[in-house]
Amino acid sequence: MATNYHFQCPTCGKGHWPGGLHEVFARWTREGGAWTCEECDAPYHFYLTFPFAFGADGRVRMVDIFKPKTSCVWTDPGTGHRIEYHPYLAIGETLDATPKLTAWLPYWHSDEHGGRTKMKFGQWAPHMDLQLFAELVDQAREKKHLV
Ligand SMILES: [Zn+2]
Repeated sequence: MATNYHFQCPTCGKGHWPGGLHEVFARWTREGGAWTCEECDAPYHFYLTFPFAFGADGRVRMVDIFKPKTSCVWTDPGTGHRIEYHPYLAIGETLDATPKLTAWLPYWHSDEHGGRTKMKFGQWAPHMDLQLFAELVDQAREKKHLV
């Protein structure tokens, strides 16, 4: 099962289903998350639904999306294609009565060859409470792996 996503207008309720998830992420990190409703011009909310097992609720509203400023590019020695890694940190907010922030770490690879680019979505990206993610980063910082 795939991750579902759509825009929903909080004012008039109109929904909008954008084309590619990577296009949404790339535009968000380039221009900010300012999509507006085609009906009433209010800013859309961007929702994702993850097909989690174990009864975990996988519905969040995206709050912010980040991409590293440094690009990560190499040549695949097997094919000679130019590969670029596109990792993101997406901050979501749960839809509970007491919403919590979450961290989702999706990624894509672009495979460029002969003037064509194919985007490949990385599967199994972790999604966790933002505080848990911060605790992991803090532990790495405490052991001087981050400055
Ligand atoms: Zn609207």
